[in-house]
Amino acid sequence: MKVVYVNRETPDTIVFRLDGEMDYLPGQFIMLECEVNSEMYRRAYSIASSPTEPHIELCVKEMENGIVSTFLQNVQVGDEFKVSGPYGKFVYDGQADILLLGAGSGIAPFRSIAKCLTDEQMNVKCTVISSHKTQKDLIYHAEFSELDITYVPTITRGEWSGRTGRVDQALIDQYCTKDTHVFLCGPKEFVFAMKEMLNVPSDQVHMEVYG
Ligand SMILES: Cc1cc2nc3c(=O)[nH]c(=O)nc-3n(C[C@H](O)[C@H](O)[C@H](O)COP(=O)(O)OP(=O)(O)OC[C@H]3O[C@@H](n4cnc5c(N)ncnc54)[C@H](O)[C@@H]3O)c2cc1C
Repeated sequence: MKVVYVNRETPDTIVFRLDGEMDYLPGQFIMLECEVNSEMYRRAYSIASSPTEPHIELCVKEMENGIVSTFLQNVQVGDEFKVSGPYGKFVYDGQADILLLGAGSGIAPFRSIAKCLTDEQMNVKCTVISSHKTQKDLIYHAEFSELDITYVPTITRGEWSGRTGRVDQALIDQYCTKDTHVFLCGPKEFVFAMKEMLNVPSDQVHMEVYG
């Protein structure tokens, strides 16, 4: 698939779009093949676009000493990648009340879900809680702010006009009732810490761990 659009979303996160058709559900991921210094690598990336959009969007955050995520920060329009998929069971499946809790690039599949259900004008109570280090690290801040959802960004370092501090029990309880389906995505420390704070049956908890 060919890169048709690139946007530097934050200082260490690149968003890019690939042309080409794929039937996927919001929340799924693709495997991207990438040649770096004459070696081939395959990495999983969540699809950040919605099936209602005509492209595949990916959102890649640079990991310290990460081979592919560092390489992809310099992706250019016209670059081509072999992509397979979609994969994964971390999908939005028509639930009426959802809480999407993400940290860092773990917010990517939630852009897909939130965009899809607002484009389709589905009658869903959707809350996105998005946790990042500083204000400049907020991913898809403008987009989530514009969607007809409840959007609660929080930063763990520095100051800004919005919420500060880690996601805690009080914040979760504010948006999670006994009927809420909770989607957790991001680094494993974040996902498992969030899971511990949930008071909903386990079949209402959906997790995607980024390693
Ligand atoms: C289902 C799924 C979806 C994902 N979606 C996204 C997404 O949408 N966006 C996103 O940004 N990421 C996503 N990821 C993570 C992504 O797949 C990659 O893991 C990530 O980009 C890092 O890849 P890399 O090649 O840069 O890092 P790697 O080179 O694989 O290194 C990863 C980390 O391990 C460390 N490391 C590597 N080798 C060693 C070693 N020998 N000793 C000690 N430490 C080492 C590196 O320093 C680095 O911090 C997803 C993961 C999964 C499983």
